[in-house]
Amino acid sequence: MTTITHLINGEMRAPDGRTSRVFNPATGEAIRQVGLASTATVQAAIAAAKAALPAWRNLPPAKRAQVLFRFKQLLEANEQEIVRLISEEHGKTPEDAAGELKRGIENVEYASAAPELLKGEYSRNAGPDIDSWSDFHAVGVVAGITPFNFPAMVPLWMYPLAIACGNTFVLKPSERDPSSTLLIASLFQQAGLPPGVLNVVNGDKEAVDALIDSPDVKAISFVGSTPVAEYIYSEGTRRGKRVQALGGAKNHAVVMPDADLDNAVSALMGAAYGSCGERCMAISVAVCVGDAVADALIARLSPKITALKVGAGTQCGLDMGPLVTAAHRDKVAGYIDDGVAAGAKLVVDGRNLRVDGYENGFFLGGCLFDRVTPAMRIYKEEIFGPVLCVVRAASLEEAIALINQHEYGNGTCIFTRDGEAARRFGNEIEAGMVGVNVPLPVPVAFHSFGGWKRSLFGDLHAYGPDGVRFYTRRKTITQRWPARQTQDVAQFAFPSHQ
Ligand code: NAD
Repeated sequence: MTTITHLINGEMRAPDGRTSRVFNPATGEAIRQVGLASTATVQAAIAAAKAALPAWRNLPPAKRAQVLFRFKQLLEANEQEIVRLISEEHGKTPEDAAGELKRGIENVEYASAAPELLKGEYSRNAGPDIDSWSDFHAVGVVAGITPFNFPAMVPLWMYPLAIACGNTFVLKPSERDPSSTLLIASLFQQAGLPPGVLNVVNGDKEAVDALIDSPDVKAISFVGSTPVAEYIYSEGTRRGKRVQALGGAKNHAVVMPDADLDNAVSALMGAAYGSCGERCMAISVAVCVGDAVADALIARLSPKITALKVGAGTQCGLDMGPLVTAAHRDKVAGYIDDGVAAGAKLVVDGRNLRVDGYENGFFLGGCLFDRVTPAMRIYKEEIFGPVLCVVRAASLEEAIALINQHEYGNGTCIFTRDGEAARRFGNEIEAGMVGVNVPLPVPVAFHSFGGWKRSLFGDLHAYGPDGVRFYTRRKTITQRWPARQTQDVAQFAFPSHQ
């Protein structure tokens, strides 16, 4: 079994202690092992990032961008291998893996505009004979901690932009599917990144805690579950670091009586069951306004869910692969048992799905619940599996109130043909990303990504313009070059320009 290494100071470093197994979730077999970095290994990565910082932060942004251009080309040239590794360890279909890589590459493209993004702001004659400008400086060594569900895209939300802004970086990817993440980082190295600018330490809580504890780490970007996001945010900010910590979700789709139902059904199929529901933007609740909508929606969804093509994520042409681990599959199945026990109506039951030739894989078929109420665990908690819950509401007002009461506020959407309803929804809903007839309103790379409420801890969203702000410190310089001494008396009152 091969061992997945760390990347420290430009070199692949063999693990020195604990390891953990990485599975192919389609076959259920352990296919690799990954090193779990000790505190000392993480400190070595931080030291490499710190040593690389002075030269990198002073390199002209246009030169830094040149490395990003070459990185983008290498990502495109190596797409097949990256996709293969994502599918093999995560289980998602190759088409879906290719999609996540493309969205990641868009972030590299955005970061390539570093010279434009870092131009700063200038005011000539901010006061009499006084010029003032603000420019944006690197924060220092930045750490990124990422989840299993997007092993390529989520790290690419972070380090290309952080590095373009002049920072150096230590990435701690998910230990469940680390191979594609490491390959992508090594391509950045191959593109000409100096050693130490990007380091990858594989690991678990010990590695994360070493990053939080280090005074040399000035900022942390985290994406993962809410309990860990909250822990990293509170521990990091307590030590004076900048932290943006994106957490879990429970994304609702409102289906109005005037919605184009065929469109809503197709959109919900992809949004609820794509990637087995293991997406932070997955729709997991459909709020139907009126019983007639709920009955019609369920009648159209049910046969499509039963007909979902489920198989090994390494094959093309499938709708869903397996869940990421046996433990996660069992956890999702446990939620389904819980929903039945709580009195929800299980309209489609995917618990007994078997995939020929992959009997040991971590599979679960698509599930659909009706008559779900806000008091049930399957409504309150993030399931992160192929399970859609239908909740019935009497009006748009009731639907909005329901969504606003939920602890999470990542994404949401409305299906309607009524512009007034759509506008009201956009105004009143408490979520960071809103779709109108768009089920997965994931912002493009030149906007920023983030939720509200317990879906994000911190002030700035990920990537895009907020990412530039997060990865830079503003410095404002005020300058005066008088031709001769014009002011020969001391001023004791606060100067004003009247
Ligand atoms: P996770 O929270 O278990 O793990 C995320 C990272 O934190 C991993 O690198 C992991 O090693 C580390 N970690 C895990 N437990 C830790 C602990 N106790 N202390 C310190 N570090 C720890 O999340 P996951 O299961 O990998 O990913 C799924 C979750 O991520 C879901 O909740 C999903 O909604 C969320 N997610 C959110 C977004 C978003 O943008 N809001 C995007 C993708 C995924």
